[in-house]
Amino acid sequence: MRVVVTGGAGFLGSHLVERLVAEGHDVVVLDNLSTGSLDNLRRVRGRVKVEVGDAKDLDTCLEAIRGADAVYHFAANPEVRVSAVEPRTHFEENVRTTFNVAEASRISGSVKTIVFASSSTVYGDAEVIPTPEDYGLKPISVYGASKAAAEMILHSYSRLYGIGVVVLRYANVVGPRSRHGVIYDFLLKLSRNSSVLEILGDGRQRKSYLYVDDAIEATLLAAERSARGFSVYNVGNEDWVEVVEIARIVGDVLGARPRLVFAGGTPNGRGWPGDVKFMLLSIDKMKSLGWRPRYTSAEAVRLAARALAEELGLLGQ
Ligand code: NAD
Repeated sequence: MRVVVTGGAGFLGSHLVERLVAEGHDVVVLDNLSTGSLDNLRRVRGRVKVEVGDAKDLDTCLEAIRGADAVYHFAANPEVRVSAVEPRTHFEENVRTTFNVAEASRISGSVKTIVFASSSTVYGDAEVIPTPEDYGLKPISVYGASKAAAEMILHSYSRLYGIGVVVLRYANVVGPRSRHGVIYDFLLKLSRNSSVLEILGDGRQRKSYLYVDDAIEATLLAAERSARGFSVYNVGNEDWVEVVEIARIVGDVLGARPRLVFAGGTPNGRGWPGDVKFMLLSIDKMKSLGWRPRYTSAEAVRLAARALAEELGLLGQ
């Protein structure tokens, strides 16, 4: 199959590209390298076509997507925190790009399936935990709203133009090459000063973490099983972990015992406005396909912290 991966030079995208190449697909990456890098694709160099371009431009999307059988749309600004200060960014990077991908797929006439990287944040402060796919969409960040809006655009394209859509609502995915999120943040802070660690919020935020290999496994399985119609899957873990525990694990990996300082969050203990404090997804639907996460949340955090610390040259200092 000819497959386009938008955001394929990013964290999740590059792991996905490696798997698609290994499965023998003809892969084109469309990425503007705003947060991704060509270095993330070094293992598949020469075996993928990389189009450096912006998915906010419809013609660029058309050029990359023409003739493709499937598109994995992973390009986005993934930083929930950006919402609070720069909401337009999430409209431009997450909604506009999704519209362009859908429109380019329709015009191309060749695309049978779009696989979309959505997020647990579409549920907002869910009152049902673990949260199932049919829980209402009530985002509390513009990031979450941008993902919900993108899902709805894709739903209409699926109904109107018969393009299969697979939506994956990921929990926090962690692993090598990730350059955002709490683990990366803690590693950078501890590399500057290993005796104190500032935690945004009250540290009691409790969320589910998934190791990247588990996330990619789920992505490919869902894409294979649900290529037609419109399907939604939660992709997360069966347990969760508190931010203070993540701080302990990251400190452990670096051999540091920092004093924890709680600062900068919102009055009700969130890390930033729009931060969902408690997130655990019901993953029964993914499990019904035969998928299971191999690592618990805490194991995923430890594995990711170790891999990132190594990438950043922080081990053995
Ligand atoms: P990332 O920043 O590593 O990857 C995003 C990629 O998209 C980067 O390579 C970036 O350069 C590219 N990009 C951004 N805007 C673009 C544009 N306008 N045109 C072309 N390329 C563009 O982030 P990630 O964590 O790998 O996230 C990948 C996707 O998964 C995103 O859609 C994100 O919202 C979603 N997601 C991630 C997580 C997670 O925990 N990592 C959780 C839920 C959803």
